[in-house]
Amino acid sequence: MSKKYCYLFTEGNAKMREILGGKGANLAEMTNIGLPVPQGFTISTEACTKYYDDGKKINPEIQAEIMQYIDKMEKITGKKFGDHNNPLLVSVRSGARASMPGMMDTILNLGLNEDVVNVIANKSNNPRWAWDCYRRFIQMYSDVVMEVGKKYFEQLIDKMKEEKGTHEDTDLTADDLKKLANQFKAEYKSKIGKDFPADPKEQLYGAIEAVFRSWDNPRANVYRRDNDIPYSWGTAVNVQMMAFGNMGETSGTGVAFTRDPATGEKKLMGEFLMNAQGEDVVAGVRTPMKIEKMAEIMPDVFEQFKAICATLENHYRDMQDMEFTIEDKKLYMLQTRNGKRTAKAALKIACDLVDEGMITEQQAVMMIDPRNLDTLLHPQFDAKALKAANPIGKGLGASPGAACGQIVFTAEDAESWKKAGKKVILVRLETSPEDITGMKAAQGILTVRGGMTSHAAVVARGMGTCCVSGCQEIKMDEENKKFTLSGKTYKEGDIISLDGSTGNIYGSAIPTVDAAIVGEFSRIMSWADKYRKLKVRTNADTPRDAKKARELGAEGIGLCRTEHMFFDPERIAAFREMICSDNVADREIALDKILPYQQGDFEKLYEALEGCPVCIRFLDPPLHEFLPTEEHDIAELAKSLHKTVEDIKNIIASLHEFNPMMGHRGCRLTVTYPEIARMQTRAVIRAAINVSKKHPDWKIVPEIMIPLVGEVKEFKFNKDIVVETADAEIKAAGVDLHYEVGTMIEIPRAALTADEIAKEADFFCFGTNDLTQMTFGFSRDDAGKFLGAYYDTKIYESDPFARLDQKGVGKLMKMSIELGKPANEHLHVGICGEHGGDPSSVEFCHKIGLDYVSCSPFRVPIARLAAAQAALKK
Ligand code: ADP
Ligand code: MG
Ligand code: MG
Repeated sequence: MSKKYCYLFTEGNAKMREILGGKGANLAEMTNIGLPVPQGFTISTEACTKYYDDGKKINPEIQAEIMQYIDKMEKITGKKFGDHNNPLLVSVRSGARASMPGMMDTILNLGLNEDVVNVIANKSNNPRWAWDCYRRFIQMYSDVVMEVGKKYFEQLIDKMKEEKGTHEDTDLTADDLKKLANQFKAEYKSKIGKDFPADPKEQLYGAIEAVFRSWDNPRANVYRRDNDIPYSWGTAVNVQMMAFGNMGETSGTGVAFTRDPATGEKKLMGEFLMNAQGEDVVAGVRTPMKIEKMAEIMPDVFEQFKAICATLENHYRDMQDMEFTIEDKKLYMLQTRNGKRTAKAALKIACDLVDEGMITEQQAVMMIDPRNLDTLLHPQFDAKALKAANPIGKGLGASPGAACGQIVFTAEDAESWKKAGKKVILVRLETSPEDITGMKAAQGILTVRGGMTSHAAVVARGMGTCCVSGCQEIKMDEENKKFTLSGKTYKEGDIISLDGSTGNIYGSAIPTVDAAIVGEFSRIMSWADKYRKLKVRTNADTPRDAKKARELGAEGIGLCRTEHMFFDPERIAAFREMICSDNVADREIALDKILPYQQGDFEKLYEALEGCPVCIRFLDPPLHEFLPTEEHDIAELAKSLHKTVEDIKNIIASLHEFNPMMGHRGCRLTVTYPEIARMQTRAVIRAAINVSKKHPDWKIVPEIMIPLVGEVKEFKFNKDIVVETADAEIKAAGVDLHYEVGTMIEIPRAALTADEIAKEADFFCFGTNDLTQMTFGFSRDDAGKFLGAYYDTKIYESDPFARLDQKGVGKLMKMSIELGKPANEHLHVGICGEHGGDPSSVEFCHKIGLDYVSCSPFRVPIARLAAAQAALKK
């Protein structure tokens, strides 16, 4: 039998989201549990993948199956496409496996043409409704299928409203809408050069293809990259009978959440509009009513709706985000999904559901998106400063957080200002999906229109960006890049602050304070710690970072980059003296000056880590990075070293490298200047001895990490110097101290010969920044220039420096472990590249059997949670 590509809603269920997409699977599930859902069918994600495989064509086999399902749908609904008695009108809706709100396209009222519109106008005795549907259809179809810009149609609507002297769409009469529909068709013809298609089946194919195409539109591509959604998944297409919310004052449409998506509080939250359709509620064109209002307007429907909400929450055991439409007092459910929520709400909802006995601790741990935690770890407004400040206005607290920055008015400006290193607040009348990259670049988003479920609000919550929406008091002048609020004018570049929890807007910069892990956050983290197998360490070079990381739950330092300690003015002088020395004796004198600083830093790190492991990496960068480049600095250095400017310039020239990344650095430095490694060893061992004396209960085991090893003999050479020096120190101090010498695996050759290296090394730590760079053969500092083009052409879907390349780099890691562990049963293995804090990379590290991941302090909680999820996933 040939493959099945179409499924009636009655044939699917919630478990089938891979082939039906989230929307389709849930429409089927709601149908199964007996909720009122307009019927239809889903064309599978596999059909989408096939469409792309076939060179962007729907093949005849799938076309035939779609025709069959249209027949079935006509039988089920008793309506027919293009019929003069009982015409079928449908929506054609995208729906991927993972929800991508607003990223892809939907078309409503499909099936209308000049005949059909008259049929429904007469039959219903409601010509206004009929023509409203038709003009909406032409508008959406032109935009989505034929890519005639929306704005042309909006201009025509605005013109019509101006002539009528009104601001509301609802004031337009049947005749007005009929005129508009005709103007739209003329607009279509002038732009496309053909008549607007009248055949419903032709319309349907056009729409289905458009949905498939929308999987590949730029904003969907950006969204997928940000949310780790693979391109290969494809989108499903849902063809569904229309429910009409625009039939008059007994009809309407809305969206609702079963719990508050901003705070997590258990109460129904939503918005609706009477006599409206589709996106009207979220588009911010009209300001919607609160869901509670429905109790007054349509009490029976409201009761029914509340019951459905309870049913759905119980069924899915999670907060639901729903779309509904009321067609002449009859309620229809159009969508349900596990609602997007802020990190704060996610934690509260997970804990509440556990307390309500709805889910287990493990399920609670699984339902939090680790990337989301980021927002909770970022600074919040200083409570005192906030109290003292007077808001200049108030909107809806649509996405919590504290944001402070300079005003910009367009998404493009937000991006370019961000690139220039500025912090910006994007202020817009309303946002649209095209604004997504600009929204990402902003610290916060402020909109004049739109409610809690507006595009800006939903997208900002998803990104964890602070957002205040619907501040109607703002008098906006987008064109001249300024607005007035509370009698004052704010221009581009002015500083404002936003409080995404209260919705308050401040006309100045408000200081922020660090966040802490308390309440529900700490409850979830304690569950995560219970179930994870991977240890989580941190990358920290300073005692301050180390302390912060410890507070956030770090169980050790996985990487301390010692070179960062040399840039302090006092130290850099001694370090430069060392570099410019003519002989070993002079170099040692200079190094002796650095030793106490380094030892002091290490002592503070051991103190901060309270006996947990601290892994110190020896000097890594090439020496020329430490020498001055400016004329006057060179002159000064010459003077202080009693050398000529010429001498210093010669030294600088002699250290010049064509490709410093692959030059004289890392363990290669020790081969030429062993005295540097000796000094660093002394500093580590002396610090460990001192701190151990102060804290006899801590069992400090110093870990010394040799960078950039590619050959076992090279490692052995470094190690011998460390061991000789360390043993002498320990003996001189008359103490008992165990220490370890290991290596970073960051050169492919080290991975390839890991069995040999493991015989000598006590541990491996994957330096995946360099390992990625060396494996791909491009530098992370330059890749930004062309990676954009690589995403566009789908050669890469994500940045290999942010998300571990499991296929290539991951294979080297796996190989290192498989070769290394049998060669040395005590070998412990970690990762300390940026990937150590990326959830999907953490999962990979769990799978291939690492002992720990190490990441920057603020990502420690993210890694803890990701590690627990990896362990629970199985
Ligand atoms: P998105 O994924 O962007 O939310 P949807 O496919 O859910 O897009 O649809 C966009 C809007 O159209 C939503 O408000 C939805 O409720 C509405 N809609 C979709 N299908 C129908 C239908 N059959 N009847 C009435 N409204 C519909
Ligand atoms: Mg929707
Ligand atoms: Mg490196």
